[in-house]
Amino acid sequence: AKPVVAIVGRPNVGKSTLFNKLIGERLSIVDDTPGVTRDRIYGECEWRNRKFSIVDTGGIEPASGDVILSQMRMQAQLAIDAADVIVLVADIRTGVVATDSDIAAMLLKSGRPVVLCVNKCDMIGEPPAEFYEFYNLGLGDPVAVSSVHGHGTGDLLDRIVEYF
Ligand code: GDP
Ligand code: MG
Repeated sequence: AKPVVAIVGRPNVGKSTLFNKLIGERLSIVDDTPGVTRDRIYGECEWRNRKFSIVDTGGIEPASGDVILSQMRMQAQLAIDAADVIVLVADIRTGVVATDSDIAAMLLKSGRPVVLCVNKCDMIGEPPAEFYEFYNLGLGDPVAVSSVHGHGTGDLLDRIVEYF
């Protein structure tokens, strides 16, 4: 079967923007009705002759008693369990926050391969000093990406397909 890649992370880090960028550039979009592709959470992607599916999981909020939030978390957990590779998206503008660490711990427990994407690195060249604090998440070398501009997405895809 085709490998499945799940995009996870807390809300607002740019998961959906990344998802759209990844499928938009590599996929012949069948249905280009406005709104349809934007809201789709499953997409097909191809990179270096490898085809795979991508899932945009929606945000993982910190654990709480809220039913909707805990359902979102459960959906994300299901996507993680079904994924061959997980992309954890974080945000260079906020730096590492406690929820990032919680999610990283949850992913390490899953035993799946994880690629850490530090999004919103919009400037070309050396990443800013804050980039290096993402090493503390214990997920190896982070990849600097700007999902809006598309910088770094090739490096990210290279890292993803290494695991297939
Ligand atoms: P999600 O909640 O993780 O799916 O995040 P979204 O994809 O909805 O993005 C949240 C906000 O971050 C939006 O305003 C995006 O335009 C913005 N955003 C996403 N990626 C980037 C990026 O690479 N650079 C900048 N500057 N903003 C970004
Ligand atoms: Mg989203």
